[in-house]
Amino acid sequence: MLSRKITEGDIFVVFDLEWNQPLPGKEYGFDTSKLTGEIIEIGAVKYEYSGGTIHNIGVFSCDIRPVCYRTIHFHVKKVTHKTNEDLSKGKPFAEAYEQFREFCGNDPILAGWGNSDPDMLKMNLKFFDMDDKLNMFFIDVQPLFSVFSTEKGRQRSVEFAVDYYNVPKVDSFHSATADARYTGEIFRNIFEHNKTSEVLSVISSSSHNCDLKREYARVGGACDSAPQAFDMVAGLNRRCPVCDAKLSRKIPPFRIRKSSYGLYECPNDGEFFGRTRVKKNREGKYYAASVLRFATQTDYHLIATKKEEFEKFGPAGAPIEKEVIEDEQK
Ligand SMILES: [Zn+2]
Repeated sequence: MLSRKITEGDIFVVFDLEWNQPLPGKEYGFDTSKLTGEIIEIGAVKYEYSGGTIHNIGVFSCDIRPVCYRTIHFHVKKVTHKTNEDLSKGKPFAEAYEQFREFCGNDPILAGWGNSDPDMLKMNLKFFDMDDKLNMFFIDVQPLFSVFSTEKGRQRSVEFAVDYYNVPKVDSFHSATADARYTGEIFRNIFEHNKTSEVLSVISSSSHNCDLKREYARVGGACDSAPQAFDMVAGLNRRCPVCDAKLSRKIPPFRIRKSSYGLYECPNDGEFFGRTRVKKNREGKYYAASVLRFATQTDYHLIATKKEEFEKFGPAGAPIEKEVIEDEQK
């Protein structure tokens, strides 16, 4: 994906959020799918990029008083150890967000573990009628870690990566500030243990504009056979879902068993990973479910592995092992 170039003096803000959830069975006076979590804590660590690595230059921590989900969900309580009383002591979300933006400063690059935090931040901003444009690029440190560790293609927890780099444990996990600190230290260690040019190149292909939708899903109609279901959606990935420009095929689509994979490039928006799976519905009819998304490091790894499998075994794929099936669930 096209992204921002990293230059000397650039600021990275590694952040993490904690949020509370609606209580099961409780009636709320609004559609809870529009607010699946209400943010109760923002934690962030600021780094400056210089001399081929990043240097910690500040910490931000803020508790937020929820107004929709004021009773702590048992699962959130178990993970964060927060109580209802803790929740009542926080700042209003708008105030906390303003302070967070101030802390970020001008034109920072956000980073975090997994993709859910920028999405949750935007959901809260939108729900509370605030400007939900972040105008920032985001780097997901999780796939970055998997590229530079021996864990290629696997999704690991922050705890695992902390142990991998022997980051000293000073805080317990699962407070936003502690998790932001740990993610920041993992990020710093990735710089410390690898060639700068390689880290920067992977970063530039795995960061994305927070304000763009990342994934475009479509479902084809019911057909009598799997090949028909594939044919029905064959034309889907000809144009860019963002700007409608013609997509070129970096890796033309190929099919293994019930899934097809392809890598596409838009001249304006960068590379997309496409996957189509044929499924059977309850009536025994076949249909294709297709996803086109901004390619991440995990996707590059997945498609390279699949392509290798295809070249060796053809459309029938490798003799099925448990590992292959797990891959296809991702
Ligand atoms: Zn485009």
